[in-house]
Amino acid sequence: MLRKKTNGVARRSQRTSILSQAAETSVDRRTFLRGSGLAIGGLAAISATGGTVTQASAAGAVNGAVDLVKSVCTHCSVGCTVIAEVSNGVWTGQEPGWDSPFNLGAHCAKGASVREHAHGERRLKYPMKKEGGEWKRISWEQAIDEVGDQMMQIREESGPDSVYWLGSAKHNNEQAYLFRKFAAYWGTNNVDHQARICHSTTVAGVANTWGYGAMTNSYNDIHNSKAIFIIGGNPAEAHPVSLLHLLKAKEQNNAPVIVCDPRFTRTAAHADEYVRLRPGSDVALVWGILYHLFENGWEDKEFIRTRVWGMDQIKEEVAKWTPEEVERVTDVPGSQLKRVARTLANNRPGTVIWCMGGTQHTTGNNNTRAYCILQLALGNMGAEGGGTNIFRGHDNVQGATDLGVLSHTLPGYYGLSAGAWAHWSRVWNEDLDWLKGQFETVKAADGKDKNLMNLTGIPVSRWIDGILEDKENMDQPNNVRAMVLWGHAPNSQTRMKEMKTAMEKLDMLVVIDPFPTVSAVLHDREDGVYLLPAATQFETRGSVTASNRSIQWRDKIMDPLFESKPDHVIIAKLANKFGFGDRLFRNIEMEDAETPNIESVTREFNAGMWTVGYTGQSPERIKLHMANQHTFDRTTLQAIGGPADGDYYGMPWPCWGTAEMKHPGTPNLYDMSKPVSEGGLTFRARFGVERDGDNLLAEGVYSKNSDIQDGYPEFTYQMLKDLGWHTELTDQEKAAIARAAGIPEFQKGQDEVGEAGMSPFPSDFDDKVAKVNWKTDLSGGIQRVAIAHECAPFGNAKARAVVWTFPDPVPVHREPLYSNRRDLVADYPTYEDRKFYRLPTMYASIQKNDFSKDYPIVLTSGRLVEYEGGGDETRSNPWLAELQQDMFVEINPRDANDLGVRDGAQVWVEGPEGGKVKVMAMVTERVGAGVAFMPFHFGGHFEGEDQRSKYPDGADPYVLGESTNTAQTYGYDSVTQMQETKATLCKIWSA
Ligand code: SF4
Repeated sequence: MLRKKTNGVARRSQRTSILSQAAETSVDRRTFLRGSGLAIGGLAAISATGGTVTQASAAGAVNGAVDLVKSVCTHCSVGCTVIAEVSNGVWTGQEPGWDSPFNLGAHCAKGASVREHAHGERRLKYPMKKEGGEWKRISWEQAIDEVGDQMMQIREESGPDSVYWLGSAKHNNEQAYLFRKFAAYWGTNNVDHQARICHSTTVAGVANTWGYGAMTNSYNDIHNSKAIFIIGGNPAEAHPVSLLHLLKAKEQNNAPVIVCDPRFTRTAAHADEYVRLRPGSDVALVWGILYHLFENGWEDKEFIRTRVWGMDQIKEEVAKWTPEEVERVTDVPGSQLKRVARTLANNRPGTVIWCMGGTQHTTGNNNTRAYCILQLALGNMGAEGGGTNIFRGHDNVQGATDLGVLSHTLPGYYGLSAGAWAHWSRVWNEDLDWLKGQFETVKAADGKDKNLMNLTGIPVSRWIDGILEDKENMDQPNNVRAMVLWGHAPNSQTRMKEMKTAMEKLDMLVVIDPFPTVSAVLHDREDGVYLLPAATQFETRGSVTASNRSIQWRDKIMDPLFESKPDHVIIAKLANKFGFGDRLFRNIEMEDAETPNIESVTREFNAGMWTVGYTGQSPERIKLHMANQHTFDRTTLQAIGGPADGDYYGMPWPCWGTAEMKHPGTPNLYDMSKPVSEGGLTFRARFGVERDGDNLLAEGVYSKNSDIQDGYPEFTYQMLKDLGWHTELTDQEKAAIARAAGIPEFQKGQDEVGEAGMSPFPSDFDDKVAKVNWKTDLSGGIQRVAIAHECAPFGNAKARAVVWTFPDPVPVHREPLYSNRRDLVADYPTYEDRKFYRLPTMYASIQKNDFSKDYPIVLTSGRLVEYEGGGDETRSNPWLAELQQDMFVEINPRDANDLGVRDGAQVWVEGPEGGKVKVMAMVTERVGAGVAFMPFHFGGHFEGEDQRSKYPDGADPYVLGESTNTAQTYGYDSVTQMQETKATLCKIWSA
């Protein structure tokens, strides 16, 4: 139970120690502590702050020879290095990496106990199937045969879209890339992962504002911040070691920390200014701050003039948000927001940090754009210490997003257009017509044939509806009949009552994971469930992308335990079963028939990821950085001397051109004070060059040493020619450009380009290749030449404050679907119902009903330091389970007293769609009156029922509990289908 530090009341006694139970069957406590270099008191203490621990003696941990293997923690996006001590193939101990610029010898409780994650007694040990209500052990051969045969039958009967491939951020980059490619070869865009329900609204909002949808700076760069503004984020618990970097700025720069959150979090405890806003009122709050900035002329006018389009329209909207109106909507006094505005204006550059408190709303894309606009108004973008530091959740959610485990794009954010497929089929050396044939073709409303390869698939947030929705209402021919949940925790998703129904309606449910997950027990199926044991990331090798876009390498610590297999091996098994293994791995070296070589996979995506610059980070360069972590500066992340001299640690993307070009990576996006060849950048020219008669390109500003001293569009061959720079391309590069343009005589395999006997360039070559651009030129020549002139390949434009392609071009406040402020619903209604991502989506038809009489309390959710995601891994770790044994709901003392609920009592919490959970009450002023909070990591109880007996023997997590998402309700972002988990309603009563 999460405990208050002091409340003047005698504490409840802790349940029986899980550690003492676990110690009987696994490693003892002393061995663990010796291995991790921690004292148990330290576990709890650093858990809130990400403090450092004492370096242990590796040699002292075990007797005999010890190998030290470097890996990266799998529990959040900070990317802390783990040094494993391995003796005779057994992982015997661990230390935090002292050389890592990210963690500097620190770990939080999760990182300090990852050995137990890999060695976990509660893992899924061999393939299992449920038959007649009983779990039965089967072989991998039988599992692949049965699963594969049934999938092919479903494909035959209902089409490829009736199998849904739900991947995850558990994959390393190589596995994520193969997973997306695999789905393409199967013939569906019904493929997605948890980024959809973490930061999809960030990616969409941020990318549509200035070009790329990622964290702009880094944890380390926060050392340079003069102010830190955190909204909807609780890094002290969700990203504990990041606090090292935040607190350095606070102490060193006297940087004021402002935390905006409905809940007084452990992060808020470090704040100079805590702003308690009403859940779901972020846009109103930000406009309330901007109101004072504009009124006092504190905005950066020159930055706006030269680098921002549309701020006038923002000003018009902001003018409506007087301090009185802001207080009515947000509950925050105008005087406080004026103080915040002055603090931000007086302490530049400051950083803005946000997490899921901002993103998980029906208006999530409005929130993320409002945060960006705040930074644009302050002129804080493209500067050390500034930027939008968007902390991603899982260790590789940034990488899995970049590599396209998403239903609306191929790897590298190329989208699903014909051009995107043509690009990737060139990278894959695949016959585009064969790929098209893998997908279903349907008749569109206009009577024309429409291939579903170009249509966004069902997002992970809505897979339930893919099963339950009337197929007449869907933009695909048939419902989903088989679900594959690969590394995904279903209890991280809302509407779990409907999820249970959906799981029971499926023909087949396949879970591929190191742990059985809640998917094994939520439903009452007797048959048709398969559990396939996946290896953890400590049992394989590969690259992983931290939140700051740096790429790190994990070496394999130990062989896969039990009968588990790495994800890329399971992908190969399935591809071979489906008969396209040879095609899928055509370019990739195989270590055996079922083991793609990881480095070879890295090289394949290096060959295609030009859009975001995942092209320069070869496996060799990434490994060089890992081996020389000590040579990188802890603030700039730049290597000072040594073999990687000048590179930025992990070559944060974009790392332009080929590896041979040796671009150092881009530490801070859009920073024009550096040349592009040294990590500088402009805003991306992504939205055209003109809008409403205005110039969308930058006005007279450019990155250092640029040969074009003004704004400019993205580079194409034609642009190179217009500038006279096309003559700098080599013949090999021109041949690759010819191939991208589809000139027939150049349509050879990629390896043959530039070989002797290459066709001569035709006389009309320049005309034929004019449109080939920096994203589709597989040689990287266009990028190379642009950068030789210190220009950004993607152009030099203004950021846009107004996204004219979105439902709300100017971000506006809209009330949540389930709102108890009916006065505000009238003034700030939600959207009309609409259909997108293949499914009808409700807005007004829910909001028009007043649920607030029966469900008066606002319900929100979030993370705890001890657990991660759906919690299956961490609740199965005895060291973490010890620290947090009960699922709970935080209730303000006023509400508790009115409801007659005492601290520690069992209560029911019910949402307006009827889902209810039985949990322990925690009476605390952390939440305001009228607001309740529940963490989302628990599972294995359902509406008061303990489901422990439904797990396979020995694979039940130590800690079970109700999922907040059983009570959480419908609601999806208007652009990305992000789920709403931060502002719904509930009622609470004593159980
Ligand atoms: Fe570091 Fe995050 Fe792992 Fe904690 S969970 S050790 S902060 S990577």
